[in-house]
Parts: sequence; structure tokens; C-alpha cells
Amino acid sequence: MSASNFWPRAEKYDVHLLTLHIPDQLSEQAKLLMQETLVLTDMLRMNQNAQHCQRTQLDALLTLRLAAAFRSLSYCFTDKDTKTALEWRARTLEGGEVKRKHCEKISELNEREIVCYSGTMSTWVGKSRELYYSTFYAKPNCRLQNISDVIDRNFQRTLEHLKAIIHQDLISMSSCRYKIVDLFGISGEANLYPKHFAYFMPEDEGVKHANCKRTIVFSNVYTALFDAISIKQLDIFGWHAEDLPHKESLGEYLIAWFRGHDLGHSIMTNRTSFSKLSKLDRWGSMVMQEALADIFGLLLCSHERSANELNIDNTKLARIYLLEMLRYMRRGPCDFPDAGAAYVQFKFLVECGCLKITENGNVSVYLERFYPSITKLAKHLTENILQGDDESAALFISKYCPNNDLQDCAKLIDTIGIVADTIEYEQKIREV
Ligand SMILES: [Zn+2]
Repeated sequence: MSASNFWPRAEKYDVHLLTLHIPDQLSEQAKLLMQETLVLTDMLRMNQNAQHCQRTQLDALLTLRLAAAFRSLSYCFTDKDTKTALEWRARTLEGGEVKRKHCEKISELNEREIVCYSGTMSTWVGKSRELYYSTFYAKPNCRLQNISDVIDRNFQRTLEHLKAIIHQDLISMSSCRYKIVDLFGISGEANLYPKHFAYFMPEDEGVKHANCKRTIVFSNVYTALFDAISIKQLDIFGWHAEDLPHKESLGEYLIAWFRGHDLGHSIMTNRTSFSKLSKLDRWGSMVMQEALADIFGLLLCSHERSANELNIDNTKLARIYLLEMLRYMRRGPCDFPDAGAAYVQFKFLVECGCLKITENGNVSVYLERFYPSITKLAKHLTENILQGDDESAALFISKYCPNNDLQDCAKLIDTIGIVADTIEYEQKIREV
């Protein structure tokens, strides 16, 4: 655990407030019950840190009360899956096999009114092995769910295109479902820092190897992170607000690429073995998997079929991708696999002459070289990482992974600077 709540280490931080509004149609009864569960979760989380003789008893009593509140809450809704999820949520608090079974079953549901998760989860930096009490409530976002669904519908066709331009051996393994929501209430460990915007369920609830999985994406949090941090970096690239999509469409670009990233994780060849690669170099393997997902994800959503259907301007998408790559990289390339992956992509784009760092820490972008360079990187990653050849994988990792490039990496971060911005939630549901 870090000595500070914020990350990466800095002398001071900019805290950006994100207001979480209460959905219109919630009844007073539902609001009160939600408030109660959020407070109970904070108490359970604090009790995990405490050393006193009543600890187990207090934990049991609070959990019982929490389960009763979820059962009562299920009566406040009419949508079948919302009600069922809340009833099953109460059961998960029994722990053990009952938790496992119900967490897995909840992943199969499609709630239409609200999405609620509660219980012990891993949310901390690097996804800690310890599980801490957390609760969150979110409202399904139909508009952005449609964006994610378009990428899904076009996936097999775009994969055919990737086979033609990248490598004939590419195949797709099964991928997990996406549920796009807007967060409106959160407590316990998940309300600490950094604010995560995606939960991989039920794995993050401590249920491994589940048959059914789904990723819960907080689209309002993701857009707020982009707004608060990535947009601040426009100057580094010498761009202006007009170079990006209109504010209202930003969420659409971000969700399209993020869904692409997730599907990108499922693209490999018959010879790919990340478990074998992970035994050789666990960190390097994680970094390369994230880089592959980023690159394939970008190629999936910039493909003409999805881009036309979603009205995506590929030049603007390239800028969003570069801003996000920089935001991730500036979180510390050696501290998170996705930040390491951003470093790999940055380094490659510099080599291709698509990016050039200037003395004062700005970055010149040659956009006409962008997509050809991304395609080239996809080919290199496929040939070196996805073919199951340990030697070429090790060589590629040693050349591009930040952990094998400590001096250059430190110099680059020194020039460009770290991210010292964070977001904090203003939760209307918690106002009493
Ligand atoms: Zn990923």
C-alpha cells in the first residue's frame, strides 16, 4: 500500500470535482436505502482496518443489515433483472460458495434500471490481492451502450480486415460482455484513489475463472478523467479544443476505443501463449498484452465500417488516442502495465517519425504517418509476441519495455512530467 492516497507521487495535486447526480426516477425510499448501504459499507471497510475484540461480531451484524437493505431495495424497482440482481446481491454477502455462485449469475443479467455491486472487491493500484468492502450504484447508459454494441456487431468483419492487413493467422478468442453505466453512488475501498472506471466482474470480487463475465464501465468517470487530465495536455501537442470532437461526442469516441481495446485482448493466433510468456517475464507479458489491446482496439474502431456507422472522424480519433496514451504514460511507465504499454507505443511512434519530442517537453505530431505506423506496430507485435516464439518475444520486450529502458524512460518522464491530477466525487445521493 502506498504512503499517500494519490498516485503517482507529487508535491501537490489538482483535484477535479465530478458531481454524481441522482437519477430522476429514484423513489425517496430507494434513496434512503442506498444511503444506508453506502454508510454501512464505509463502516465495514473501516472495521477491516480496526483491531478490537468485537470485530468479527460487528462485521457479521453490519453484513446482515446490508443484506436486508438490498432485499428491501429490490422492491423499489420494476425491471426484473434489477430486482433479481439486488436479491442475489444480498445472498453474495453470505460468502464462500454462495457468493461465488451468485456473483457469477449476476454477470449474466442485464439490469435496465440500476446496476449495484457490493461486497469485498479488489480495486487498489495494481489490483491488490486483498479484498476490501465496497459498494457502488450506477445507471445504465443506453446511448453509449449502443456505441459499444456497434463495435461488437462489426467485430468479426473487422477482424477479417485485420487478417488481410496485419497477419493471416489472427483469430479471436471469446470476449466478455460490456455494461456501460453512469456512476451515481460509491463507498468503501472503491471510493478511494485512484478512481477506477472499469471493473472486471466477478474477478474483481475475488471470483476467479467464472464461466460468465462482464466488464462494468463507468462512462461518466472515464469522460471526466479525459476532460480533467487528457484535455489539459492539448498544449503539449500544440492542438486546440477544435481539433477534438465536440464535447457531447467525446464519450462516444472514448467508449468505441475502450470497447475496441477490450475486444483487442481477445485477438491472438493459434500459437499464442501468454501463460508461457508470463513465466518468462510476467511484467513484460502484461505490458505487451495491454499494448496489443490498445493497437488492435484502435484499428477495430477506426475501420471504415464502424467509423462510418458511428460518425467517427479518424483524425480526431488519432488525437484522442495520443492524448490518452500520454495520460497513461505520465502515470509512471514502470508502475502500471497499461502505463508501460503506453510507453511501448510512444517509443515506437517516435522511432517511426510520427512523434518527435522537443527540448521543452512538447511533442510534435506528424498525423499523416499515424495510421501507417500503428499498422506497422500491430504487425511487429503480432510477429514477435503472438507467434509463441520465446526468443523473438524476449528480444522485442527487451527493446521496448520501460523496465528494460530505465534511463531513457526516466529522462522522458522528466521532460514530459507526471500526471498530478486526480478526481473526487461529489455524491448527491450521500447528502443528508
Ligand atoms: Zn486491457
